[in-house]
Amino acid sequence: MNKNILKWTNTHIFTQREAPADAEIPSHQLMMRSGFMKKLAPGIYTYSSLGLRAIRKFEKIIREELHKAGGIEILMPMVQPKELWMETNRWNEMGAGLLKFKNRNDHEFCLGATHEEAVVDFVRHDLKSYRDLPKNIYQIQTKYRDEIRPRFGLMRGREFIMKDAYTFDIDQAAALKSYDDMYKAYQRIFDRLGLQYRIVQADAGNIGGSQTHEFQLLAEAGEDALLVSDTTQFAANIEVCPAIDFETPAVSAEAAKPLEKFSTPNQKTIADLEKFTSIPAHQLVKTLFFSANDGMNVKDKELKPIVVLLRGSDEVNPIKLKNLLGLANPPMMLTDEEVKATTGASPGSCGPVGLKIPIYADNGIMHLKNYIVGANEDSFHLKNVNHDRDYKITKIADIRMAKEGDKCPESSGRLKAFRGIEVGHVFYLGKKYSEKMNGQFLDKNGKAQHYEMGCYGIGVTRTVQAAIEQSHDADGIIWPKPISPFHVHICHLDPKDAAATEYVNQVAMALAEKNIEVFIDDRDERPGVKFKDADLLGFPVRIVVGKKGFEADQIEVVARKNKEIFKLNKNQVIEKAQSLL
Ligand code: ATP
Ligand code: MG
Repeated sequence: MNKNILKWTNTHIFTQREAPADAEIPSHQLMMRSGFMKKLAPGIYTYSSLGLRAIRKFEKIIREELHKAGGIEILMPMVQPKELWMETNRWNEMGAGLLKFKNRNDHEFCLGATHEEAVVDFVRHDLKSYRDLPKNIYQIQTKYRDEIRPRFGLMRGREFIMKDAYTFDIDQAAALKSYDDMYKAYQRIFDRLGLQYRIVQADAGNIGGSQTHEFQLLAEAGEDALLVSDTTQFAANIEVCPAIDFETPAVSAEAAKPLEKFSTPNQKTIADLEKFTSIPAHQLVKTLFFSANDGMNVKDKELKPIVVLLRGSDEVNPIKLKNLLGLANPPMMLTDEEVKATTGASPGSCGPVGLKIPIYADNGIMHLKNYIVGANEDSFHLKNVNHDRDYKITKIADIRMAKEGDKCPESSGRLKAFRGIEVGHVFYLGKKYSEKMNGQFLDKNGKAQHYEMGCYGIGVTRTVQAAIEQSHDADGIIWPKPISPFHVHICHLDPKDAAATEYVNQVAMALAEKNIEVFIDDRDERPGVKFKDADLLGFPVRIVVGKKGFEADQIEVVARKNKEIFKLNKNQVIEKAQSLL
């Protein structure tokens, strides 16, 4: 049979009426119900032939666009030796996300979670001269990350398919040019899917580097919070979005009053205190405690307590705090016991006055005077507290979460909030990996230099699911044509009728010859079941052929997207299907 035609009875696809209980969001439910994939273990899935077709189509789009950007495809191993990851210290920095194990000779290995180390090892023996550069190397490969909480199906899996690319350049200007080329390639890739996405400023994570953008598909179920300007092109992940009050609060003109301790029995939270004192949360100061070492490895290290001060109405931004402290991962909050050991009081009664540890204050409290903080004595607070006079701030910085309505950092506009699914990420890395792993070339003057790098990821399986999250209705998936497993779904209602079957095969062949991919539901099932399944699988065009319609020369063609029905003569069907696509 033609490669563009598949009959349901030749597949292993079983649709389900109900989604499993752990499928919380529509795309995950629809993928499970449509037989797109099956769970083997938490975060680990088998892709059925339908799932695989969508994945392969997206991979093809990626390959085509990366080819235009000069990409060279390779395939690196999933199993990697510890020694390689020790060269960059990421064996430790990556924490428990890196799945580690020993082989029979007691050698330690991990499963590849990302491939900067492996790719530098691949090129470092070959890239000897400036004439060997630039290079743009990529692979499409299975990654393993031992995510704490795999969820939402392929959105946050443990095993998933990623496209990862790496660029090597002679200097920063060339590296930024490579970055720009990949940025544009990513735009072409996501434009081709025809989905709504935003490119946002992002945090570089523990991968290193400075310049970085995320490609975010917009969807309510997205794990990422985005803030987008209502006046300019500015868009950022909340993790790095500068927090600027829309109206700058004036510094209080009050004179400093004498410090006073007062009794606050059972007043533990900001909400409690707001009620108790009738002072609004944005004029109260909250005190949080962290340990200023890398959260992933905090157990191996001594506690380094620090204080973070914010307005009562603000939330701390762990990523900003991580970057302020120069850590690889966000710091851990102290436990109640650790707070007590540090201050002598429970967390609800703590404040900065009298503490001998570093104090980091968010710039949102700088205009406040004569405010209230915990007294470091259970059930007591201090009032008329003033920084500089009553305690010294180690560093003032932007360490709070920005929020909707805040000022746009580039204009007088406001920020608007969106949810997004991070499907792609581009990083400029600089020399972090080439220096640590001794990746050098000889420049024009014969001088040894470390090359400049960039790295670029696309979550292949995550994107395919995100496409469904953005494009579905109550009855099922509405596949964007470029990655739809098939283009046309023929509901063959009477597969035992020779004449109707002959016609179905003719239509399928005619479409297949035009490179339109046809899925024929030739199962022995009732029409209602077939229609429901066709909606669920969600290929763009459905053709309904039954014995009755065939004999009356009336065939139904249905557009999946808006369910528009066309009743046509047999000889009009192919043209209609084509025009709908
Ligand atoms: P996240 O912030 O979502 O954990 P990340 O920043 O760790 O992702 P990268 O290291 O930039 O991700 O990986 C490149 C791409 O791989 C991401 O943009 C995302 O699309 C995809 N990806 C990362 N982790 C997962 C996962 N657990 N399941 C599916 N796709 C993933
Ligand atoms: Mg990322």
